[in-house]
Amino acid sequence: MINPIIVKEAHVAAHNYEPLPVVLVKGEGVYVWDDQGRRYIDLMSAYSAVSLGHSHPRMVKAISDQAQRLAVCSRAFFTDKLGPFLERVCQLTGMDRALPMNTGAEAVETALKAARKWGYKVKGIAEGKAEIITCNGNFHGRTIAIVGFSSEDQYRDGFGPFPDGFINIDYGDTPALAKAITPNTAAFLVEPIQGEAGIVLPPAGYLKECARICRENNVLLICDEVQTGLGRTGKLLASQHDGVEPDAIILGKALGGGMLPVSAFLARQKVMDVFQPGDHGSTFGGNPLAAAVGLEALNILIEEKLVERSAEMGDYFIGQLRKLKSPLIKDIRGLGLFIALEINPTLANARQVCEHMMHHGLLSKETHDTVVRLAPPLTITQQQIDETVSGIQKALDDLAEQLAKSA
Ligand SMILES: *Cc1c(COP(=O)(O)O)cnc(C)c1O
Repeated sequence: MINPIIVKEAHVAAHNYEPLPVVLVKGEGVYVWDDQGRRYIDLMSAYSAVSLGHSHPRMVKAISDQAQRLAVCSRAFFTDKLGPFLERVCQLTGMDRALPMNTGAEAVETALKAARKWGYKVKGIAEGKAEIITCNGNFHGRTIAIVGFSSEDQYRDGFGPFPDGFINIDYGDTPALAKAITPNTAAFLVEPIQGEAGIVLPPAGYLKECARICRENNVLLICDEVQTGLGRTGKLLASQHDGVEPDAIILGKALGGGMLPVSAFLARQKVMDVFQPGDHGSTFGGNPLAAAVGLEALNILIEEKLVERSAEMGDYFIGQLRKLKSPLIKDIRGLGLFIALEINPTLANARQVCEHMMHHGLLSKETHDTVVRLAPPLTITQQQIDETVSGIQKALDDLAEQLAKSA
């Protein structure tokens, strides 16, 4: 009894994903519903793109109002929406200038271009020599340049040749950063917490020390906050946990309010000033529909105090998860509502846990083989967290029982 909708999609879609066997047809708040009318708590929130919850009424209104007025007109013209959106995002993040794009990967590419150009035009690096330092375990998107500096074999396999000029060091290792910097280093690109690597938290004070090393060497510190930003970790930006003010940041995912791809590269003026008309662009980047959506997403985040809520509910969630009893659990870690449940790989894998969770009305997806990601909308309530934790306990018990039987 395989669902014919799944059969159809598998038949016509590229197989670059391996979804859980559930067909979603509706979402509201933290809940999604499948085609059989079953309700689930969404613990993925589309990799944090749905931090405000599904179909937030204010988002639905913002997108439909703007769609009826003016949706897309390109950056060949000014619009009444872009300035207010970028002003708000700069004001909230403490940045001087913003360059709007659509997806996270595009905003990362923008950051790489800005860093290189700054390296040549401002720092005085010899043409063609600029280096950008990145970390092992990084995830910054899927373009050829970006996967070129991934340390994940599968992300690179079959996609070369890749651009030069990227140097990988171990994440969390500040002496390695100091050692890797040369006179040709333009920037250090880093995630404050590595999301796709499995919600990997660096040692305390890591980013602060990175910032110091970068400043000392005239190297730009660029934080990729596509996933960690906008409240996910209990601060507006994850870099704020370390009191760090990067030279540039990258936002995406939640910036689109769960409605559209909206991303931005934000930087200090000295960095952004390297871009002249014609240097870089995007047909859809900064369109009035996206700008209206982005502005409303930021306003909701602040007015509903979702950043504070993420900190509070995250602490509660982690505390409750630590009370789970199962031999399958190896580790529980996280910050705010950015939480990893790591499974003991000698006993089971995270995919199996996700499948059992699904049977108990909880949707998540494994990250690599061992991590179950728990990153619900920031609007989740204490009661919904309690429901989640008891569902996870049942899922772990079911799986343990099944493993014992087949042993
Ligand atoms: C998801 C993600 C990206 C890429 O965003 P897309 O919108 O999928 O291109 C970049 N950086 C980080 C840290 C991410 O988590």
